[in-house]
Amino acid sequence: MGDHYGDVKVQLGQMKSLGEDAEKEEVDPEEEMPVSSPSASPDSTGRITTGPGTDALSTNICKQKGKRGSKNPCGKPLQGFPAHAVKNFNSPICDQTLHIKGTGTILQGKTAESNGNYVHESSNTQETRCKDEFKLPRKRRPVTVDTSKAKTSLEALKLSIKELQWKQFHTGRRAACDIYWHGVSFHDNENIVSGQVNKFPGMVEMLRKINLSRAVRTMQELFPEEYDFYPRSWILPEEYQQFSTEIRMVKESDGTESPTFIVKPDGGSQGDGIYLIQDTVDLKLVVGTQAKQAVVQEYIHKPLLIDKLKFDIRLYVLIKSMQPLEIYIAKEGLTRFCTEPYQEPSQKNLSRVFMHLTNYSLNVQSGNYVHSDSQNTGSKRTLSSVLYRLAAKGVDIKRVWSDIIALVIKSVIAVLPDLKVHYQADIPPAKPGPTCFQILGFDILLMKNLKPVLLEVNSNPSMRIEHEQEVAPGVFEYVPSPVDEQVKVGVIRDTLRLMDPFNKKLTAGGGSDPVEVIPAHGDSQGRSPDNADNLPPLCLKQVYPKYTKQFNHLRLVERIAALFIRFLGVKGNMRLGPTAFRTFIRTCKLSNSNLTMASVDILYIDITRRWSFALADSREAGMGLQAFVEAFFNLAGRRFKSLALREQVVSLLDLCESHLGPQSGAEDRRSLSCSRALPRGGRTQALYLPHPRPISPAAHRRATSQDCRPHQRPKPRTLRANVEN
Ligand code: ADP
Repeated sequence: MGDHYGDVKVQLGQMKSLGEDAEKEEVDPEEEMPVSSPSASPDSTGRITTGPGTDALSTNICKQKGKRGSKNPCGKPLQGFPAHAVKNFNSPICDQTLHIKGTGTILQGKTAESNGNYVHESSNTQETRCKDEFKLPRKRRPVTVDTSKAKTSLEALKLSIKELQWKQFHTGRRAACDIYWHGVSFHDNENIVSGQVNKFPGMVEMLRKINLSRAVRTMQELFPEEYDFYPRSWILPEEYQQFSTEIRMVKESDGTESPTFIVKPDGGSQGDGIYLIQDTVDLKLVVGTQAKQAVVQEYIHKPLLIDKLKFDIRLYVLIKSMQPLEIYIAKEGLTRFCTEPYQEPSQKNLSRVFMHLTNYSLNVQSGNYVHSDSQNTGSKRTLSSVLYRLAAKGVDIKRVWSDIIALVIKSVIAVLPDLKVHYQADIPPAKPGPTCFQILGFDILLMKNLKPVLLEVNSNPSMRIEHEQEVAPGVFEYVPSPVDEQVKVGVIRDTLRLMDPFNKKLTAGGGSDPVEVIPAHGDSQGRSPDNADNLPPLCLKQVYPKYTKQFNHLRLVERIAALFIRFLGVKGNMRLGPTAFRTFIRTCKLSNSNLTMASVDILYIDITRRWSFALADSREAGMGLQAFVEAFFNLAGRRFKSLALREQVVSLLDLCESHLGPQSGAEDRRSLSCSRALPRGGRTQALYLPHPRPISPAAHRRATSQDCRPHQRPKPRTLRANVEN
């Protein structure tokens, strides 16, 4: 045992020096970019602008020049080392894991901070990697992929695996695979304890229309200028009163104007059940005896048109890791066109779905739908073809692209806190589990003024590369769709390359410059001559942590989520009980003469009751994260009355964290500070509850911060996934 421990210590020493070398020699993803490539910096709204003076990036490039390849202790390059494994040799997690190997336990290295997929990498996969890769295998076995649950993504997946010369197991495999590809959700296969799964737990729930709206709205309360890319939304039935008041006020202020709204059932997809209204009387509020859960949203009535048609953008985004956060954007996407010329909404045309809704599943039913083999014609085109067309008309597509990147990063930051709560519940730190990654489908509309607007995020974007066609009268067949294949196979293949457990360092930087980002027609099929694997350059571009500096200040709610998770206590839990809430108050020393423990209990009961309606997927009673965030805002408002909301929240976070020690913050607390304020949106009015006067969000906040009266809520809805297939 003593000898073994000694060996382990020697190994640890070697690993550490390896890690130090590797850390120093990390290649900046931008290194491969031409020096003349524009650097990026944020303007006050977080937009990434190009131009001189942005120079974290160029400094980095200069620093990294001439440093290539990690070294092993013998001074030879470490071929086949995954970049992140090399990096993590130097991390306390890897250190501790090795140390623990000598003592028989393997989980000691985890810290309370590590509630993302990073943890499990350290605890099982990565430990194996540390061990395996130390032997420096020259010839690696092919990466194994379990495709048994891939469903409609199977065809694209097969092509990708073939290109990579990996091995697929389409009926599953008794031994563990390196990667598991799920068609719908993390839970498609419950028995995975290692490897990587292409879904995060909780993503389906988080991206349902109501939850996404709530998450974005919380961010709008804290950072109104930064989150202006999401249309104003109301959640039905609970915010019916606010919504009808809004319509009435607009109509009263301008008798000529008929504002239009789009109603989307929660959990719906492919345009199912969506309709436009100009009056509350047209709302379909009840199905049978149940109130219908839906989001009603301001309708963007002046979209950018091409060939007189409305279109939207489907962008593929990879969340490679949640902790640390790593986001990649596919430089090629799809655009989906309506099949009837657009007219601004009027009572006459409100029901014309082929004019107003861009969904493929709807428009394909129109006689005008054009299946095309070309990327730049037809009803589904590549994003690059549309951007080039706009560029040819003089549109500043660099700016459009940088706005889109900002929209994506901000949206991911909005949903991350809830995802972290789901993650720790499904794969608690002490439980063996896989690491996760996920491809998301962002639906984005360009307004006439070229501003991108987020319509929704799909947790399970369709990866079909074929479409149904009537090949003879009454005979339908699936035929290949070249545009889908070009885009989707690239996205899946390059996601796999980035998740390759034996990954060499891949150049996946860039992202702000569409000239570099969007390939000219045909380029994406071109092979890179100096690529050893004879694969094309990656079509996925890292945007985070690349733009950490510009966006890290937005990660405030994650700090609240870190507190929440810390006090959850029981593994697998997603709700805070009253005792845990009290413990939080006590540990953070928040109670005083203005906040007695009795008022803490009242606050808990009030907020938990009001939120209970939103917890259809409830595993247990108690306070969920979004309710906790509301309670936190409330406490912050009481404690720091004179400050604006955002400053209140930051001050309370600082205070709590100061009582808790270093583990309580999000990834990088240093830059998580802020200074602007904003009124909070009301969340509390229930449909059918008489409300004598409209209440403004600010007034509502004042009211709830002093008096927390329970409200009646409709019954929980059934859970449906917002998936496309
Ligand atoms: P689904 O998940 O059912 O596809 P979406 O939110 O994507 O729901 O909406 C369907 C379509 O409706 C979109 O593709 C877009 O064409 C249109 N749409 C959605 N929201 C808006 C909006 N706020 N303004 C204008 N058009 C919208």
